[in-house]
Amino acid sequence: MDCIFCKIIRGETPSKKAYEDDLMLIFEDVSPKAKLHYLAVPKHHYALIDQMNAQDQADIGYILRKIAKLKNILGLNDGYRLTINQGENAGQSVHHLHIHIMGGQTLDWPDYRK
Ligand code: 5GP
Ligand code: ZN
Repeated sequence: MDCIFCKIIRGETPSKKAYEDDLMLIFEDVSPKAKLHYLAVPKHHYALIDQMNAQDQADIGYILRKIAKLKNILGLNDGYRLTINQGENAGQSVHHLHIHIMGGQTLDWPDYRK
């Protein structure tokens, strides 16, 4: 699969991994938008929530619980934000579903209408 996150999952592209198991990977975003900025990805490749199957749905619940369990290790004990960009308007640039995890600081809540 010619997908940058699949290449990271296969170890063909280097990344700073924070956590890995059979279902998922958490690694540092190469272009951080917060003091701490990780990406949590399911190992199964799909781009959009619309394309999730039943196993993908279960895996996302698993990933969310894993993030919560790892929050101290990741430095996120004071809070964090999860973001999933979907499609063009959201600026999704990598078409392998991923959850942005941002924290390590106070995060503004943007008013996108400005
Ligand atoms: P999106 O815009 O699709 O929601 O987010 C894609 C994210 O992947 C961006 O924040 C971008 O910095 C990150 N990214 C893109 N290519 C790479 C890469 O090769 N390595 C890592 N670690 N992050 C990447
Ligand atoms: Zn992929």
